[in-house]
Amino acid sequence: MNPRLVPASEKGSAIAGMAMTEKQGGSDVRANTTVANPLNGGGAGGEYELIGHKWFCSAPMSDIFLVLAQAEDGLSCFLLPRILADGSRNAFHIQRLKDKLGNHSNASSEIELHGAWARMVGDPGRGVPTIIEMVGHTRLDCVIGTAAGMRVGVVNATHHAAHRSAFGKTLIDQPLMRNVLADLCVESEAATALAMRLARAYDEAHADADAGEDSSDAQLFKRLATAVGKYWTCKRAPNHAFEALECLGGNGYVEESGMPRLYREAPLASIWEGSGNVMSLDVLRALTRAPRSLEVFLAEVEEANGADARLDARVQQLKSQFADPQHARDARAARRRKHGAVPAGFAAGAQRPTCRRRRVLRLAPGGRTPAWSTARCRPASTSRASSSATARRSSAAVRRDPDAPPPRGTATIPLRTASCDA
Ligand SMILES: Cc1cc2nc3c(=O)[nH]c(=O)nc-3n(C[C@H](O)[C@H](O)[C@H](O)COP(=O)(O)OP(=O)(O)OC[C@H]3O[C@@H](n4cnc5c(N)ncnc54)[C@H](O)[C@@H]3O)c2cc1C
Repeated sequence: MNPRLVPASEKGSAIAGMAMTEKQGGSDVRANTTVANPLNGGGAGGEYELIGHKWFCSAPMSDIFLVLAQAEDGLSCFLLPRILADGSRNAFHIQRLKDKLGNHSNASSEIELHGAWARMVGDPGRGVPTIIEMVGHTRLDCVIGTAAGMRVGVVNATHHAAHRSAFGKTLIDQPLMRNVLADLCVESEAATALAMRLARAYDEAHADADAGEDSSDAQLFKRLATAVGKYWTCKRAPNHAFEALECLGGNGYVEESGMPRLYREAPLASIWEGSGNVMSLDVLRALTRAPRSLEVFLAEVEEANGADARLDARVQQLKSQFADPQHARDARAARRRKHGAVPAGFAAGAQRPTCRRRRVLRLAPGGRTPAWSTARCRPASTSRASSSATARRSSAAVRRDPDAPPPRGTATIPLRTASCDA
């Protein structure tokens, strides 16, 4: 990283930020009012001056920014340098830094653009489709970052439990604590597997695009799995961080442990680049635009068929809901009558994020990772058939009747789970 205040073109590498969100709309960026006036005629690749205010602009020390602004043909995307080619500063003014819940290492600012010079990227009026390519990668980054945060939580919790004694045993040898740690480990591993699988889809989709394809399996999987994966993984992060923090007892609440920082950071990835509801709606958008993405996505999920009867039943239920949307609507309405407001995740066929899976994980014997998680980890070169077979073999131990009592060595804690399973 080169911190010198020189044009990005004079650096070996550059940091890029983005400025989309305005006061009146972060999810709904089409409500942006920042204006782009053409210089020298404008148009695709043309020069503009930008006038407006952006309510969120993180990393304002970046060298370049992608900015959305209204041009003559509608909302368009622009590349805005902080330092101009002649070495002077662009008309990009930081008004204030946000005082945030967490995420303190990342400065987030409010900025004013007073006739800032920028160049149009993509076609006029196609700002959202242009910037969405970057947004998609940032959503992948949200999943990767969240998986990394979960891993930090697991490392701290298991380390503490391995060295702390209470009531005559190290915590890690207390069955109840072992159970909590197993949940944390499984969820962390699943998030990592999902992040890596998704990242592979990005590579494959990119290669397919280079080969001239625009609706390959990898591209369809990437489109749908990004929305589903970001929704789920990021939504789970705060609870995971909290459980990990609690494993350290009072020390976990003290700043020196590092856990408060992890906890404060946890809700963020779910908010930015598409909050929970917005990601749920994005699932529906992806399904509407490319219905085959559901088939591709479910084919991937079904690689874990036979690993756990509960998962199989859930996947079948989901498939029948998609096959009969009216039935799904009736079922949602019935749930709403029974439980009150239903999280938007149901719209995408997701279950309540905090509870159901938790119960399933708790029942997995010996804290072993379910096959649907490990199945996602195979290297790109491994064939589907062989990896499925491996996953099934490795998961034989976790296959069991959903109504059977938990095997020995697997503690279940009805009080912890029953309350959230309604
Ligand atoms: C720390 C931090 C850093 C950020 N950095 C940047 C940055 O660098 N650049 C940038 O451009 N932005 C940035 N943002 C802004 C962020 O991307 C937005 O806050 C986010 O997209 C949500 O937009 P909003 O705040 O306007 O909320 P809103 O869009 O008003 O959404 C509020 C709530 O309503 C829900 N909602 C919205 N639409 C619907 C709907 N149709 N149906 C149902 N529910 C809906 C959302 O899910 C959300 O829960 C940052 C935010 C934070 C917290």
